[in-house]
Amino acid sequence: MKILIDIGHAEGSGARGNGCEEHELCTVIGRELKAIFEARGDEAVVIDFPDRGNAGDLAATAQEANRHGDAVCGISLHMDCAESAGARGGHVCYVSARGKELAEAIAGHLCALLPGRAERTVKRSGLYILKHTRPVWVLCECGFISNVGDCALAKGRPREVALAIARGVQEFLRTE
Ligand SMILES: [Zn+2]
Repeated sequence: MKILIDIGHAEGSGARGNGCEEHELCTVIGRELKAIFEARGDEAVVIDFPDRGNAGDLAATAQEANRHGDAVCGISLHMDCAESAGARGGHVCYVSARGKELAEAIAGHLCALLPGRAERTVKRSGLYILKHTRPVWVLCECGFISNVGDCALAKGRPREVALAIARGVQEFLRTE
């Protein structure tokens, strides 16, 4: 099965915190995720436009995603950011009914690894990437880059973050 992995933002256009940058952390998590999917026999396509700026990246990502009509789902990788250094935890955004199923499957694992958010999944009707992609799509916030613990986990143990997401995807695909 083909799974699309979107590295959120262009280089330098996302959030920063604790000496890290969002695109950089998401690139490493995305690389691990691709390896996990491929190791179990799935096809994984990483979509990334690091040089296009934020708006350019979004438009190009949606366009590229919609070229893959055979993809079973797509996942955008992000890191959250807050004024309060205490804000922590992962969560997953969706817009469609199938997206909600995928979001809940992923959040079950991602939020066990990265706890702290009261709402583990959030419907976000206004998010460009959720609105403009045809495959089932979710956006994973892999913890807060502004939180020391979350940032250290994403930076130091990206494979664990990727494994949590991959487990959720696997559960979702079993329900197809
Ligand atoms: Zn982001």
